[in-house]
Amino acid sequence: HLDRITEVDDHIHAFLHVDTAGALAAAKAVDEGIAGGNAPVSALAGVPLALKDVLTTEGVPTTCGSKTLEGWIPPYDATVTRKLREAGVVILGKTNMDEFAMGSSTENSAYGPTHNPWDHARIPGGSGGGSSASIAAFEAAIAIGTDTGGSIRQPGSVTGTVGVKPTYGGVSRYGLVAFSSSLDQAGPCARTVLDAALLHEVIAGHDPLDSTSIDAPVPPVVAAARQGMTGDLKGVKVGVVKEFGGDGYQLGVERSFQAAVEQLRALGAEVVEVSCPHFVYALPAYYLIAPSEASSNLARFDAMRYGLRVADDGNHSAEEVMSLTREKGFGAEVKRRIMLGTYALSSGYYDAYYGSAQKVRTLITRDFAAAFEKVDVLVSPTTPTTAFKIGERVDDPMAMYLADLCTIPSNLAGNAAMSVPSGLSDEDGLPVGLQIMAPALADDRLYRVGAAYE
Ligand code: GLN
Repeated sequence: HLDRITEVDDHIHAFLHVDTAGALAAAKAVDEGIAGGNAPVSALAGVPLALKDVLTTEGVPTTCGSKTLEGWIPPYDATVTRKLREAGVVILGKTNMDEFAMGSSTENSAYGPTHNPWDHARIPGGSGGGSSASIAAFEAAIAIGTDTGGSIRQPGSVTGTVGVKPTYGGVSRYGLVAFSSSLDQAGPCARTVLDAALLHEVIAGHDPLDSTSIDAPVPPVVAAARQGMTGDLKGVKVGVVKEFGGDGYQLGVERSFQAAVEQLRALGAEVVEVSCPHFVYALPAYYLIAPSEASSNLARFDAMRYGLRVADDGNHSAEEVMSLTREKGFGAEVKRRIMLGTYALSSGYYDAYYGSAQKVRTLITRDFAAAFEKVDVLVSPTTPTTAFKIGERVDDPMAMYLADLCTIPSNLAGNAAMSVPSGLSDEDGLPVGLQIMAPALADDRLYRVGAAYE
């Protein structure tokens, strides 16, 4: 994999940092353990993985795709990082991402965009474009992403790979640099559903270091993937979300979705149409809630605690150092979110914006609850279009935000959701993804249906 990175990453730019020495040392430790007569510590021992640069790694740079954190070396591992190391997974390096995970194309990285391995002129999705591209380009076998509004699933969809957002609280957020704390969730990226399940099992589980971590057993995702691989979905009820489709959806995506629904039926699933009337309000609610939380979370980058500090020359006040550093360290999208969020939270507007968005969030959660009384999983396209061209949407934030139309409801409700490859669009020959959504703590359902379908 290190050779493959050397060979192709100049063209893909999936990695911000390759930790050659650390990877070789981790691999050697696994080999020596086995040579010494010990069984591998897990099914993924020795498997090379790419880690999104939003999770801290002790002694290895973590930038979140931002100039603000350039040169910062975290003094501790995120819980996800620690669990990977304990399982003998070999961490190859840190992957490119939209700055602080804000974006849908990886073009908001301060270090330049990642290219889609299927067509280098196109985006690999975002914010975790580097993680998904690294596995699509065979630079890593598996990867870790984070999903606040779709940043694991949408890159999975446009790169033809599997991406899973676990139930909120299913995977610890300790050491995950916060964007929107009530939505952020780390999860697996892989080329097969079974690989994703094996990785899910390694990173999931209760963590006392994260107060939102759920103290419940990890859903039986590996067993479910194996069950799904038998290709039998008899007894499974699948709901097609009526509200997702039509205007703004490419015909190639819609046709791929119809074919996917037919295939689920052919595998024995019972398919019905389900209405979730408030899902159409998920996007505007998200773009109030996520920036509000971000405006608060990003206050910690104050030029005093981490990374960049400019104008620290004795001629500037502390306040000037802070504002000049934030001016220089943050990119345009991050500043847009901070302004949106600060405005939405300001006194006099709080109820109208943030308060209303939270009410919409509750209505969406209720839509899901009503739907899951009738069906086991819901399905939709993962994203309305295939990979768009680099540069095509950079000047149009609204067009960029629309990429997450179908993925955001699961974040707002805290539910589990997966994107699984659904072939190539008959319109442009690019990968399309099928989104499968399940109730909170029923992540195993995604794996059963996803493995049967893939
Ligand atoms: N594209 C969405 C945003 O820009 C989602 C990002 C994410 O899931 N991290 O906020």
